[in-house]
Amino acid sequence: MTLLEVKNLTVYFKTFIGISKVVEDVNFTLEKGESLALVGESGSGKTTVLKTILGVLPPNAIVKGELLFKNTNLLSMGNDELSKIRGMEITYIPQEPLSALNPFYTIEEHFLDRLILSGKPKAGILSYIKLRRKVPSELKKTMLEYLEKVKIPDPERVLKSYPMQLSGGMLQRILIALAIVSNPSILLADEPTTALDVVTQKEILELLKELQKDLGLSIIYVTHDLGVARAIADKVIVMYAGHMVEEGITSEVLAKPLHPYTKGLVDSIPKLVGGGLHGIEGGLIDYYNPPSGCRFHPRCPKAMSICRETRPKPFIVNGRKVYCWLYGE
Ligand code: SF4
Repeated sequence: MTLLEVKNLTVYFKTFIGISKVVEDVNFTLEKGESLALVGESGSGKTTVLKTILGVLPPNAIVKGELLFKNTNLLSMGNDELSKIRGMEITYIPQEPLSALNPFYTIEEHFLDRLILSGKPKAGILSYIKLRRKVPSELKKTMLEYLEKVKIPDPERVLKSYPMQLSGGMLQRILIALAIVSNPSILLADEPTTALDVVTQKEILELLKELQKDLGLSIIYVTHDLGVARAIADKVIVMYAGHMVEEGITSEVLAKPLHPYTKGLVDSIPKLVGGGLHGIEGGLIDYYNPPSGCRFHPRCPKAMSICRETRPKPFIVNGRKVYCWLYGE
């Protein structure tokens, strides 16, 4: 079942020096229970796509497109309607856990706010103040259950702690617990393991995989780390300079990349033994004045004259979408 359909999403930011054309014509679908990774170097538009789905960009930034969640366009919803979905059916895990939590609130207070926001229980301002003074044992039990779901050791102590008293890995688990409190259908994870050491990174990715299976969640990951994409995502979309360049099954795309940019990204992964270091020559484009045709053409070793003039369409190669004239008729 298709949960989310992104159609021709185009996002431009109007600034005092001009129009920054950050994302153009992004198209993809997300099925129930599927995990999808948006990969690409910093500044390729991955997080902008995520923030558009979350509904936190200024409405005038979205110049074109549709975001169909369960067949209803999120972009045409009013704020009241959207707030029943944003943070409820579609939730978010940010990349910096410490700065995402309020340093003056204990973890219990964060949970209380999140549970009330999710309508468990429904509370007006007076009953909220009462709940803040003394959290009933029923609610505390629910909080402990969620902390156990994300495998937090010593949850009673953690509930009484402030964010700065906990490690990055613990905080990321807490953010995941807060994100699943509302039984979401889609979880958006923005570089969820970037700030963590490799051992904790592996544990968090395993936890997310388990939750995806147990809760039937669909997850969109944003990552610049191809290893993370390989470990967790069924499907991958490679983005370059705000354009999609390749889409397919993660293991297939990373084992045999077709687009010259994807090849460059895969080749730039350092090898443990031999091989040296290979980067992609050149740097990111000027979004105010992007290159014509294929945005990758100034850096592409295979560029042809058509690449400089006309933007490539998606060509289907071995069941994969590749936006490159090398695969054209
Ligand atoms: Fe290179 Fe042309 Fe393909 Fe773009 S369309 S990646 S410039 S070959």
